[in-house]
Amino acid sequence: MRIGIYPGSFDPLTNGHLDIIERAKRICDHLIVAVARNSAKRSLFTIEERLDMLKHCCQSLYNGIEIVTFEGLLAEYCKKRHVNFIVRGLRAIVDFEYEYAIALMNKKLAPDIETVFMMAKGEYSFLSSNIVKEVASLGGDISTLVPQFVQQKLQEKFSSRSE
Ligand code: ADP
Repeated sequence: MRIGIYPGSFDPLTNGHLDIIERAKRICDHLIVAVARNSAKRSLFTIEERLDMLKHCCQSLYNGIEIVTFEGLLAEYCKKRHVNFIVRGLRAIVDFEYEYAIALMNKKLAPDIETVFMMAKGEYSFLSSNIVKEVASLGGDISTLVPQFVQQKLQEKFSSRSE
């Protein structure tokens, strides 16, 4: 059984992430979508909120996807879960150096686990969670960039902040 893992911050989930999830699902028997608990980045959404968004938007759409959170080193979590490969998305060239460094480090920490890169879909290749947050905070239209559920959560977040 080929077990893949797609780790990330998902702060918040975007249509670009969903596209990778859908495609990754096709190349493995079991896909774990893993939200990092200890990301150094400051997040807008709590870990529970991010998990909830993923569960709401993925589980009904794609059977056989497991959504989890993990803490500590990804390589250790992968060993524990007998993961065969890590899936990461690549957008423009700017992603490459960062992703390459992480992939090399993971290879060092867990030599049996491969990192598989998927090129972002053209229309999502400049889409990031940060851009979505920025546009949503300024009241812009993000309806083509994130699932409706996420759009609602962003609106709630920013309207409660401006009160
Ligand atoms: P991280 O903090 O681990 O980079 P993200 O949630 O920002 O977490 O991204 C998780 C993964 O999804 C990364 O490999 C990232 O390059 C990829 N990704 C992010 N946005 C997109 C997108 N629009 N299309 C394809 N892949 C994406």
